[in-house]
Amino acid sequence: MKGRSYGVDFYKVLALSRTASAEEVKSAYHRALIAHHPDKNTSKPPTIHIATIKEAYEVLSSPALRALYDRRHQQKAGATGPRPAQSVSLEEFEEDPIDETVWTYPCRCGARYHITEDDMENGIHIAGCSGCSELVWVGFEPAKDD
Ligand SMILES: [Zn+2]
Repeated sequence: MKGRSYGVDFYKVLALSRTASAEEVKSAYHRALIAHHPDKNTSKPPTIHIATIKEAYEVLSSPALRALYDRRHQQKAGATGPRPAQSVSLEEFEEDPIDETVWTYPCRCGARYHITEDDMENGIHIAGCSGCSELVWVGFEPAKDD
């Protein structure tokens, strides 16, 4: 994901809500391309570059990239963003017996929530379930350097 402008809110770029469907993403992309096309918008400098619109579409039209993007941005979205169903202390998670950098917690669907040590180092508190779309907020102290 190096070099991608993940600081930009792709939903705002395409004027979409966070629950927009794939169809809506597609039509918003075409709308944004027309609205911000340099040839059709000569009276004022473009506020959004075509490259940003294309990047927004590339990410939001791919379920995998969109899920990753949403996850990275949930932290910043705060109270207005999608809310995890519940919060669980990391102490209630269990270390994965195979991969010790992964911690899991049982979901009511029978699968488990996963959070990795990488996530935690990056300040990500959201654990997704591998069996359904549920999320939990994972409570832990931020890692300290000393
Ligand atoms: Zn689940």
